[in-house]
Amino acid sequence: MSDVQGRTGLIVGVANKRSLAWAIAQRADAAGAQLVLTYQNERLKENLDELAATLSRPPLLLPCDVSRDEDIAALFDHLSGRSEGLDFLVHGAAFAPREALSAPFTQTSREAFRIALDVSAYSLIALARGAAPLMVTRGGGSIVTLSYLGSDRVFPNYNVMGVAKAALESSVRYLAADLGTQGIRVNTISAGPVKTLAASGISGFSGILQVYRDRAALKRNIDGSDVADTAMFLLGPASRGITGEVLYVDAGYRVMGM
Ligand code: NAD
Repeated sequence: MSDVQGRTGLIVGVANKRSLAWAIAQRADAAGAQLVLTYQNERLKENLDELAATLSRPPLLLPCDVSRDEDIAALFDHLSGRSEGLDFLVHGAAFAPREALSAPFTQTSREAFRIALDVSAYSLIALARGAAPLMVTRGGGSIVTLSYLGSDRVFPNYNVMGVAKAALESSVRYLAADLGTQGIRVNTISAGPVKTLAASGISGFSGILQVYRDRAALKRNIDGSDVADTAMFLLGPASRGITGEVLYVDAGYRVMGM
């Protein structure tokens, strides 16, 4: 029996078939979880309809722009009306205005900073707050978000997104402390670079991929399946003693000195 079999999970951040959140959704579905997937806007809903049709159990699809409190409230109102409760939440939403990911960091505008931190970090807090009561009805739960080493080290053009990821990882620790008493665990997967829609916004991204291939301990890039398998571990009972952590799925890039 798989770890998430018979569990109900909310997954935020599927834009298309390359999305890391989609790799996690596919793995969770294959493992027997019942899913709720959200989409940012109507344009992305078309993609999600097509993807959802490929899963073995039809997921519930609901709208949620994470920068809008009313969307988050409506999402959890809807979920509270169902009897299932929630066992896990995957947070895979991030965004920074394109110009902030190419201009020198010093040029970061107040508005770009606000948007990046709001969408990429605050949203985890808001979603965790909504999910917690639904997890309590199930006796606890597991929350996983997705980060990147740019939180801690400087990568060309990652810029304000690195600052947002630092805020995200810190939020994970505070949420873990806050929600731990309710049996809810909160962890981060820090993934190596993968070519996705979000990654395409970072100038020179293929150069980063090449550097990882050359220097990572495993001498390869990672893909969505690497992230999805680690997510299954963090979402399921095998990781019951782990919370507030950053787990690196980067083929061993971070540990190398040069
Ligand atoms: P992606 O573009 O497929 O996913 C990003 C998601 O964020 C999309 O589904 C998009 O709809 C959603 N999003 C953006 N603004 C939103 C809003 N206002 N409301 C709701 N949703 C919103 O790209 P991805 O690479 O799969 O990104 C998923 C997560 O993984 C992000 O947090 C990203 O920073 C992180 N990550 C990615 C990489 C990588 O190299 N691709 C590496 C490490 C971490």
